[in-house]
Amino acid sequence: MNLLCPLCSGDSTELYYQQRSKKLSRDFYQCGHCHLVFVDPAQRLNAQDEKAEYDLHNNDVDDAGYRQFLSRVQLPVQARIKPAAHGLDFGCGPGPALSVMMAEQGYSVSVYDIFYYQDKTVLDRRYDFITATEVVEHLFAPGEVLSQLWSLLEHGGILALMTKMVIDQQAFAQWHYKNDPTHIGFFSQPTFEWLAGQWGLN
Ligand SMILES: [Zn+2]
Repeated sequence: MNLLCPLCSGDSTELYYQQRSKKLSRDFYQCGHCHLVFVDPAQRLNAQDEKAEYDLHNNDVDDAGYRQFLSRVQLPVQARIKPAAHGLDFGCGPGPALSVMMAEQGYSVSVYDIFYYQDKTVLDRRYDFITATEVVEHLFAPGEVLSQLWSLLEHGGILALMTKMVIDQQAFAQWHYKNDPTHIGFFSQPTFEWLAGQWGLN
């Protein structure tokens, strides 16, 4: 029986790439329906090892390079929201830099992170915008989580996702992004088009 796709739950999945390095031995599959590339669920890190990897990340809001990186989400979002808009930074990590940057511009931003900011009451209200930067590639259940985020948006709200995208098998073989053991799901243009179709978007 084929593995089920963690995004669309389809079962037309097939082997995409086998990684065999000293550090990592993982099998990547692709869904023939939504085109997500994903790691065999049996080869994911456990929660403890996953968090240990995140604890190493140095996401400092005072780091000019990191701010520049996040501005690639911040500026397009700001261009599309009203001055008093309220947002959620989902999966903000140990140092919630984007929410601080948005707060500096006068927006109020709630934060949620499964490891670092676990107050689930923030997931009980609606938002004018939701950002998830470098998050979707880590999700065990991207279909469930993205549907939830979508349901938390006000009518006309903005969902901003930032991740690096799959191009093809040849590029994938050389791609550093797949070598992070916490990266388990890889989106591409066709995957975002599939999502847009699901939600009735352009
Ligand atoms: Zn799928």
